[in-house]
Amino acid sequence: MSDYWNEGDPIADTAAPDGPIETRWERRKFSAKLVNPANRRKLTVIVVGTGLAGGSAAATLAEAGYHVKSYCYQDSPRRAHSIAAQGGINAAKNYRNDGDSIYRLFYDTVKGGDFRARESNVYRLAGVSVNIIDQCVAQGVPFAREYGGLLDNRSFGGTQVSRTFYARGQTGQQLLLGAYQAMERQIGLGNIEMNARHEMLELIVVDGKARGIVVRDMVTGEITTEFADAVVLASGGYGNVFFLSTNAKGCNVTASWRAHRKGALFANPCYTQIHPTCIPESGTHQSKLTLMSESLRNDGRVWVPLSVGDKRAPGDIPEDERDYYLERIYPAFGNLVPRDIASRAAKNVCDEGRGVGPGGLGVYLDFADAIGRLGRKAVEAKYGNLFEMYQRITGEDPYEVPMRIYPAVHYTMGGLWVDYNLQSTIPGLFVIGEANFSDHGANRLGASALMQGLADGYFVLPNTINNYLAAGPFPDISENPAVAEARATVEERITKLLSIDGDRTVDSFHRELGHIMWEYCGMERTEEGLSKAIGLIRGLRDEFWQRVKVPGTGEQLNQNLEKAGRVADFFELAELMCIDALHRRESCGGHFRAESQTADGEALRHDDQFSYVAAWEYATDGGKPTLHKEQLEFEYVHPSTRSYK
Ligand SMILES: Cc1cc2nc3c(=O)[nH]c(=O)nc-3n(C[C@H](O)[C@H](O)[C@H](O)COP(=O)(O)OP(=O)(O)OC[C@H]3O[C@@H](n4cnc5c(N)ncnc54)[C@H](O)[C@@H]3O)c2cc1C
Repeated sequence: MSDYWNEGDPIADTAAPDGPIETRWERRKFSAKLVNPANRRKLTVIVVGTGLAGGSAAATLAEAGYHVKSYCYQDSPRRAHSIAAQGGINAAKNYRNDGDSIYRLFYDTVKGGDFRARESNVYRLAGVSVNIIDQCVAQGVPFAREYGGLLDNRSFGGTQVSRTFYARGQTGQQLLLGAYQAMERQIGLGNIEMNARHEMLELIVVDGKARGIVVRDMVTGEITTEFADAVVLASGGYGNVFFLSTNAKGCNVTASWRAHRKGALFANPCYTQIHPTCIPESGTHQSKLTLMSESLRNDGRVWVPLSVGDKRAPGDIPEDERDYYLERIYPAFGNLVPRDIASRAAKNVCDEGRGVGPGGLGVYLDFADAIGRLGRKAVEAKYGNLFEMYQRITGEDPYEVPMRIYPAVHYTMGGLWVDYNLQSTIPGLFVIGEANFSDHGANRLGASALMQGLADGYFVLPNTINNYLAAGPFPDISENPAVAEARATVEERITKLLSIDGDRTVDSFHRELGHIMWEYCGMERTEEGLSKAIGLIRGLRDEFWQRVKVPGTGEQLNQNLEKAGRVADFFELAELMCIDALHRRESCGGHFRAESQTADGEALRHDDQFSYVAAWEYATDGGKPTLHKEQLEFEYVHPSTRSYK
C-alpha cells in the first residue's frame, strides 16, 4: 500500500472482442443490437463538444435519426480547438505504393505508443482510417493534391511511409468545416439542437446510468438541467493543466473531471505528449505557446552547435561545426523520429549547454537545404502559413534564418477509461476523441489524433451506441432527486467561488500550478520530484480555496468565474497525474522516469510489471484514489525495445 493510492480490483474490457483481429470490428458491428428508424426519433443523445470528435458524432447520430442536443463553450461549434490542427491526418490508403497497409499503420501505432495501447482498438482505428478520407473528400474537404489530381501525402514521425493527408498547414480547420457543415445541415433540419456558449458543469447519473448534464449559459448565467438517453463526452484534452501549452486557452478538463467524480474511471492521466517543435517561451507574461507542425520535419533539419556555449549566429557556424543530432543518433528515422524521442533529444542537447536562443532553451529547425533543393516557392506552397505565423510571432524570417524550436506540452494520451464500445464505466456515458484514453498508449504518433477523433465520431460510436440505446427510451427522470442534487452541486460551487473574495487572481494560481507540473511532471520525472509536487499542489490548492478572487457575479458573462471552476478541477487532476506518474516506475513513451533509462538514455520499460492501463477511481472525501489495472495482451505486435536507430 502506498501513502498516495489504494490498490483496487483489476478491471477488464468486457466489451473486447476476440478471434482474428482483422474481423473483430466487423463481427462486433454485426452482433450489436440495432434501433429501427422509427424508434431512433424517440431517443435523445447529448453530445458535449463540437470538435472533430463531437462534431462528427453529432452529425452522424442526427443523420441516423436520433435527436441530438449538442453543447460547446465557444460562440460557434466551428471554433472548437480542433480548428488549430495543422499538419495532417493519417490513413492507410497506400496511395504512394510505399508499402503501407492497415497492418502497418496498426503496427506503427502500437509500437509508437510504446506498447501501452490495446491491440483491438488500434487495429480498428487503422482499418477505419481509410473510410475517413473518403468521407471527408465526399464532404468537399480540400486536401492537398498532386499535379495529377490525386490526393497528396507526406510523412510524420515514427513512420517510414507517407500516409499523412493534409490541407496545407490547416488540416484541422478544413476537416472541422466538413464536420460543421454536416452538423449545420442537421441543425437546419431540426435534428440537432445546438447550444453554443453553454458549459457542462455536472453529469447527471440516475440509477447508475448517465442521463443528462447540468449546464450554465455562459452569457446569462442561467443554470439548467438537460436530459437524454445517453451522454457523449467529446470535450478534448487537458494539456492546459500545465498553463502553458499549444492548446487553445479554453481547453480544460472540467467535463471529464465532473464525470470522473461521478464514478467514471480516469486512465493513464500521466501520459502527456510534449511536442518537440514549438516556438520557445519568450517571457513570464506569456499565456500560451505556439506549435510549429511536425510536418516541417519532412524538410527541416534539426541541429545545434557542436560545441558547448557557441553563441555565433547560425549562418556563421560552418557545416562541420553543427550537430544534426537526430540524423546522427537515429539514422533510420532521422528528423522524423516520434515526438517523445525528439523532445527528449532536444532537452538533452540543451542540458549539455548546446541550446540556442535566449536562455539556451532552443534548437534550430533549418530549411536552407530544402530551399536549395526545392526552391523557395515549393517550400512556401507546403508550409507558407506556418512560416508566416513563425515570422509574426518571433520577428525572424525562417526563409532566411533557421527557426528556433523547443518542446512544449501538446496533447494528453490519458483520459476517461472506455471499453471497446467507447463506453465509460458509467453505463450510458460514452467518451470520444482526445477526452478518452483509448488508442495512443504512452505516446501518440503525429497526425493520429484527427484520425482517432473522426474514427470515433463518424464510424465507431454511431455503431456501438445503438447497442446501448436499443434498451431505451429510458424513463423520465425530471423529478428524480439526483437531478436536483447535481444542480445544487453546481450552484453551491459557484456561490463558493464567488464568496471567497480573496486577493489572488485565478490566472496567478493556474500559472503557479503549471510551473509545478512542468518542473516535476513534465519531460522528466523522478520519485523525489513527484512526491514534492504532490505536496506543493495540495498546498497551492488549499490556498486557492482561501485566497482566490473572482470578481463579478454568476448572473452575467464572467470569464473569471469560468476559469476558476476549471482551475479548481485542474488542481485535482494535477495531483492524480503526479500520483499516476509516481506509481509507474518505468519509462514509456511520453512518461520518462529518470530512474528507468537505458545506458544511452532511452526510455526503459518494465513490461513484466507495468504492461497495463492504470484506471483510477476518484477519491471521495479527500481520501486516496484507487488504482484498477487493466492488463494489456499483445498477440500480434510483440513488445520489444522501441528502436528508431
Ligand atoms: C496546435 C495543435 C495542432 C495540432 N495538429 C494536429 C495535426 O496536425 N494532426 C493531428 O492528428 N492532431 C493534431 N493536434 C491534436 C488534435 O488537434 C486534437 O487532439 C483534436 O483536435 C481534439 O479533438 P476533440 O474533438 O477531441 O476535442 P476539441 O477539438 O478540443 O473539442 C472539444 C470540444 O468540447 C467542448 N467542451 C469542452 N469542455 C466543455 C464543457 N465543459 N462544456 C461544454 N463544451 C465543452 C469545446 O467547446 C469543444 O467544442 C493538434 C493539436 C494542437 C494543439
